[in-house]
Amino acid sequence: MDNNTQQLSRRVQNLAVSATLAMSQKSAELKASGVDVINLSVGEPDFNTPDHIKAAARRAIDDNFSFYSPVPGFMSLRKAVADKLSRENALSFAPEQIVVGNGAKQALCNVVLTLVNPGDEVVIPVPAWVSYTEMVKLAEGTPVLVSAGIDSDFKITPEQLEAAITPATRAIIICSPSNPTGSVYSRDELQALVAVLARHPRVIVIADEIYEHINFTGSFTSLGSFPEIADRTVIINGVSKAYAMTGWRIGYCAAPLWLAKGVTKLQGQYTSGASSIAQKAAEAAYTGPQDCVAEMCAAFRRRRDLVVKLASAIPGLKVNRPEGAFYLFPEVSAYMGTTAPDGSVIATSGDLAMYLLREAHVATVDGAAFSAPGYIRLSYATSDEAIREALARIADALARLRK
Ligand code: PMP
Ligand code: GLU
Repeated sequence: MDNNTQQLSRRVQNLAVSATLAMSQKSAELKASGVDVINLSVGEPDFNTPDHIKAAARRAIDDNFSFYSPVPGFMSLRKAVADKLSRENALSFAPEQIVVGNGAKQALCNVVLTLVNPGDEVVIPVPAWVSYTEMVKLAEGTPVLVSAGIDSDFKITPEQLEAAITPATRAIIICSPSNPTGSVYSRDELQALVAVLARHPRVIVIADEIYEHINFTGSFTSLGSFPEIADRTVIINGVSKAYAMTGWRIGYCAAPLWLAKGVTKLQGQYTSGASSIAQKAAEAAYTGPQDCVAEMCAAFRRRRDLVVKLASAIPGLKVNRPEGAFYLFPEVSAYMGTTAPDGSVIATSGDLAMYLLREAHVATVDGAAFSAPGYIRLSYATSDEAIREALARIADALARLRK
């Protein structure tokens, strides 16, 4: 901590640095210094944005979409999102219930800041994406973590959910397909969780469906499709993952009207409407041809098979078979307490991730960042060749650890 850190607000002092972004940054710095690093840390598709979407952005520039956009987004985009939700998920949201933000990340943070009062509890099944707990902390709420390990395919049970809900519970954040585990709740599993939530009408259900289309089960059930909770379910989604548009920064929430209005008020004070050009590109993504989505999903599925096969063959790594997203979340506790060739001790999964970066030049993310110490996350959104090379390097480096 440098001397000035104490001048920061307690809000920011208490915030964890985003480990996914930090590890990716570290890996980029090493690469720039000439080290041949394979980056399996940040989770983003390695594909380029499809051409028809890029063309729409160029047109938007030429057509002078260069002015402030409405705070909740262009009506044409909100209509395109409402149509998407109707067409793909059989959900009926009016465009007025949709608020577009700078990525699903802001959409989610908006919802949390709009809903949560100091002391309110937000239930978060973990392992969970790094930012959920921090967003709840920003709102001065209390994250209530409900843990599911690899033996239950990282899925919580209805009993666990019931036990976590108290009179102070304001919301639950559910992510399926999941970052960081790739697990996908089936319709029946969701139905069982919904039966619990139906008994707690005060709890707002926040469904992070950003990995909807990177799903190898052949079917996707939106949490918004259960009538028991539909009027208090908020859908979070966006174009980053389905259309390979992480840098364009467009996501949205689809929410009850009262909440969408609150989110718009908040966004109007601190970021305004999202980039006008990126919104026009997102509109083209939702209204244009959809083959690119299935093609990218097929590539991720092939890579899933590859990474599972290679990781399963490494002694001491315990892996499941992820059904979606592009992450593998192996349990690595067999390596805790080992010693590296340079004499350093691997006491935690964080030590192991740093060892892999140092020795194997492979960037991964410590499971602790996802509230699951004892695991590491590998993002396999990269070429087959890079996956093969990375897993071979990991196998070699792990073989050099001594008990
Ligand atoms: N939710 C989850 C689970 C994610 O993995 C991500 C990717 N960082 C996001 C939300 C945010 O995505 P974006 O802001 O790029 O739309
Ligand atoms: N979703 C990605 C990840 O988990 C992007 C980085 C981030 O926003 O956390 O790596």
